Formats: sequence, C-alpha cells, structure tokens
Amino acid sequence: MTYYEDLSEYSYHEVGVGISHPKAKNVGWLAAGKKFRTSEPTKHLLDKLWNICKVSVVQMRGIHQCELCPNVDADFATRNDENLLLGSAEIRVFSHNGDVYAAPTLIYHYMLDHQYLPPDEFLRALNEGPIPPAQEYFERLAKLGLEWWKTSAPAEKPERFRFVRETVGGETVIVKKKV
Ligand SMILES: [Zn+2]
Repeated sequence: MTYYEDLSEYSYHEVGVGISHPKAKNVGWLAAGKKFRTSEPTKHLLDKLWNICKVSVVQMRGIHQCELCPNVDADFATRNDENLLLGSAEIRVFSHNGDVYAAPTLIYHYMLDHQYLPPDEFLRALNEGPIPPAQEYFERLAKLGLEWWKTSAPAEKPERFRFVRETVGGETVIVKKKV
C-alpha cells in the first residue's frame, strides 16, 4: 500500500472528480518501516471507527495486506458478532468544522492490533463528528460527490491460497497451498 504521511493532502483517486470541495487529509496510511505513535485505543473510539468502516467510499485495486504483521487474515475483522473485509476500500471521517479525513479501512486493524494512534484532530473528528447510520454522515459524503457502498461483510473468513515452489523428485514445481 502506498505510504502517506498523516495529515498530508489527499490526492489519491481524486484526479478528474471535477467537484470543488475541501481537500481531505490523509490518515492511517501506514507502511513497513515508517514510525507512528502508539496508544491503546478506547472501545468507544473503535466502535465508532467500526461503524465508519462499514461504509466504503473509494475502491482500491485488490486486497491490501497489512505490512506490519505476518497475519494474513489481518484484513478480516470481527467486532460485536459482525465481520468486515478490510483493506480494499477507503473511508471518510468528518469533523464538525468541515475537515475531511481519508483513511484506508485497514486503519481499524492498525488501531486495534498495532495500537496506531492517529492525529488528535482525527480522533476529535471521530469522537464528535457524524457516524453512520446518522443521516448527516451520508449527507457529508453526498456533498463531496462520493458514492458509497456497504463494505464486504463475509459470513466466514475467506479461504486464502498462495503459490509455493517445491522440489518433487528433483523437479521444481509450483504448488497451490492453503494458508
Ligand atoms: Zn497488521
């Protein structure tokens, strides 16, 4: 996944939108080797973030795996008996004063499992701004001209495979293995 510094100006995927609106700020675009501040997230904030992660706004190509941990299922998240497939879309978080934040849905995993602490202004927006299913949240998306859809919520963990090279009887073959 591409790395963006927190609070840098969002530009990914916005080319050609043609709608005049405040620029979103990037939050939570973590990558291997890039430092970030940490703190244990509160259940309250994670609940709010979870509800926002149910609403995807910009599709990313393919599934993005977490670069910070070897857990191949990091993008499959479960909270309060609900499942979400993270890592393939973006979310928007709105503050009361008009700021917009653009984050990957994996931010939920980053906060929960890596104790990633987003910037204070983002946390304030998460705490005080509109949260789905509030009508105001969808009105803010509409004002930005952003289409949204429900984030994929598979009933079960999707099966994953990877291709590995093995030597069988002196010959190297590619074998499909379940991970
Ligand atoms: Zn991870």
